[in-house]
Amino acid sequence: MSAPHRSSTELAARVHATAAVCTVVSARPLSPSLTELVLHGDPTLAGQPGNDVMVRLRDGEHHVRRRYSVRSVDPTNHEFTLWISTNHDGAGSAWARSVAPGTTLDVIGPRGKITLDQRAHWHLFLGDVSGLAAFYRLAQSVDGPGRVVVIVEIDHDQDALTATFDEGVGVTGIFVDRRGRHRNDPAGLLSALGAFAFPPDTGHAYVFGEFAVVRALRVALRDRGLADDEVSHKAYWRDGRRNADHGEPDKSDD
Ligand SMILES: Cc1cc2nc3c(=O)[nH]c(=O)nc-3n(C[C@H](O)[C@H](O)[C@H](O)COP(=O)(O)OP(=O)(O)OC[C@H]3O[C@@H](n4cnc5c(N)ncnc54)[C@H](O)[C@@H]3O)c2cc1C
Repeated sequence: MSAPHRSSTELAARVHATAAVCTVVSARPLSPSLTELVLHGDPTLAGQPGNDVMVRLRDGEHHVRRRYSVRSVDPTNHEFTLWISTNHDGAGSAWARSVAPGTTLDVIGPRGKITLDQRAHWHLFLGDVSGLAAFYRLAQSVDGPGRVVVIVEIDHDQDALTATFDEGVGVTGIFVDRRGRHRNDPAGLLSALGAFAFPPDTGHAYVFGEFAVVRALRVALRDRGLADDEVSHKAYWRDGRRNADHGEPDKSDD
């Protein structure tokens, strides 16, 4: 197999990760908003639940990098799976919709610092479908008698994808219909969060999705009494602005 581009090797060294060439095994639409991509390559790129990989893909005349959380890993077959949001016009979205099996690409991983909080008795996952891969991989790593609550805003009924969990883990899944609200409007998720009574024991919230929505949910979680180290959050994308070529959304205040 060919070697990664020099820029990938250099970037991987800077972020203390590995760069490798992976091959697309399959790409298929899972729902109106999500495409599932299976990659063949070094499974250690996938890291642990909560980690993501950075892929290098062509965007017109140049290349950009996009980060995608790992949904699941099959170490025996050296494969891992990504769930990519493809219901908007963007470089990653267009690439995932059209990529063919057999295509090779540079992948850098594992990336990301958010992993499961082992102290928590209950885990609350909040966001939009771009966070679903991370939510389910993290949630499936919870041991019984832990509890999992997943609250995700969706645009289409078919985006309400489910997962299976170990017996002994208490799971509640709530899909919030966006009902035409703007993508940076947190009202739907705030309302669902308001209806969730926090159990009295230790909990941890994980918030992934649109920049302004993540920010509003962080404030709401703090107001509900969660401490800063009980909330893990990451803006995955920002409404109306493309992510930078290195994959991060614009975090400026303007
Ligand atoms: C750590 C990390 C993990 C991530 N994991 C995932 C993941 O598992 N799955 C996933 O789908 N994405 C994930 N993302 C986001 C992903 O990396 C891309 O930034 C995002 O999918 C948009 O890339 P794009 O090139 O398609 O669009 P861009 O070129 O960045 O944006 C083009 C336009 O599309 C809009 N847009 C971007 N994303 C969305 C969206 N989801 N819904 C509606 N409009 C959008 C933007 O506002 C912009 O107007 C993650 C991001 C980070 C930082």
